[in-house]
Amino acid sequence: MQAKTLSRIFQYGTRLFILAFATYLAVMHQLKGVLAAPNPHAYCPFGGLESVYKFLASGGYIQKIMPATMVLFVSSVLLVVVLNRAFCGWICPLGTLQMLFDRLARFLKIKKLRVPPAVERYLHSLKYVGLVVILYFTWKIGDLVYSPYDPWAAYAHIAAGFSELYAEFLIGSIFLLVALIGSLWLPNNFCRYFCPMGAFLGILSKLSPTRIYRSETTCINCKKCDRVCPAQIAISTEPKVKSMECLSCGDCVVACPVDNTLMYRTWGKRVLNWLVYGIATLVIFFGVVEISKLAGIWKTSYSSATEALTDDSGAKNPANIKGSMTLETISKEFNIPVEAIVQKFKLPENTKADEMLKNIAAANNLETDAFVEGVRTFIADYLKQGGTSSEKPSSPAPVATVTPEQTPVTQEQTAQPATLDIRGKTTIEELLGYGMTKERFKEITGVDMPADQKMLLNDFATANHLDMEALKTQFIKALQP
Ligand code: SF4
Ligand code: SF4
Repeated sequence: MQAKTLSRIFQYGTRLFILAFATYLAVMHQLKGVLAAPNPHAYCPFGGLESVYKFLASGGYIQKIMPATMVLFVSSVLLVVVLNRAFCGWICPLGTLQMLFDRLARFLKIKKLRVPPAVERYLHSLKYVGLVVILYFTWKIGDLVYSPYDPWAAYAHIAAGFSELYAEFLIGSIFLLVALIGSLWLPNNFCRYFCPMGAFLGILSKLSPTRIYRSETTCINCKKCDRVCPAQIAISTEPKVKSMECLSCGDCVVACPVDNTLMYRTWGKRVLNWLVYGIATLVIFFGVVEISKLAGIWKTSYSSATEALTDDSGAKNPANIKGSMTLETISKEFNIPVEAIVQKFKLPENTKADEMLKNIAAANNLETDAFVEGVRTFIADYLKQGGTSSEKPSSPAPVATVTPEQTPVTQEQTAQPATLDIRGKTTIEELLGYGMTKERFKEITGVDMPADQKMLLNDFATANHLDMEALKTQFIKALQP
């Protein structure tokens, strides 16, 4: 078997295996919850970049990001510095999905679109602008602001069903469809024009000593390399590929009909054949993961519901309840009867205790986020009335106060002080519910409380050029008893 064919089989096998594994984890997470498989953000290296500001500032992570995310981020950075954008060409499952559609198009003999070079350059710049905007807002707010627009997040939520995709990932789903269907005519269009991780890796790739070199003495100028390049790089006219847009896919190396004409080289000298390049990619990327496991750093998910619910102070916090938790888990962890929750939200009596909150919301036509938030508030209020999470209520007295006539989570109810869960998505109205006064608000922010109580704190902070993280800290400090 030819060395090129062997390398291709190895590359495609690796990519398909990673895609299949990532898909399996995503489906397991959607169907079985956070305790069965990590949430999709936990194993996306871009999440590490999104969390890096908080990590450096406080040693913590933004929601849904785990230590493993940071490890994957570090291994991606190391990989790009040593081997250029090998992450894009060998690892990224979203790139693999687009590649599959590109190969399908080749099989169907669909003619590719060639974008005029000036337009292509302009389109490339979109992802660099996107990277700056995403990092600015993510670092400022401390939340995964990109998630609703992320086609990988949308793909990872397909198993959650159409209603969740529509409600939470509508734009991400559109990006996903455009990326995949569009790859029939415009290969890797998401990588080329929109991927913020691709933009970050593209910039770092300038540091890498490894790139593709073309031998001008053996090149027969057939231009096959140019035709197959999914990034539309003019390979045949330069002695080496200098472009940040090179995805390290190796398509040009494989397409070149003259042996030893296109080759990966480090510092222009040492030749790395395509198979060695792939093996080195896996060794670096997964080597970092293995080292982190040996060092006890690797952690993708919570080992128990108790851990998932426990906050930095060591106490179980209802604010950490997730849509992928079941009524049974919440009942057990907070010592609250399942019936109390069922009654509170007027759920059907046959609601299964082992059903996840998000599935219960979908089955009862409730908006998932609002329902989960309602459960958090209800549990917090319940604990205030009937005991603490570590102290079982002596009688179901608080349940007796819950009648089917009560409406789910009214603003009057949230007007009592509840467990503080202040973040960028918190509204002014919720802040008032936590006990914030207009006067204290002005003392902290230096600005009058907005009349629009539906305004998000994030929007308020942005409009008034205030730092969301600092605001959050001050609000919590002011509201804590
Ligand atoms: S230059 Fe070669 S390796 Fe880089 S994107 Fe184009 S075909 Fe792939
Ligand atoms: S495919 Fe190979 S021989 Fe043909 S133009 Fe490109 S580098 Fe030269």
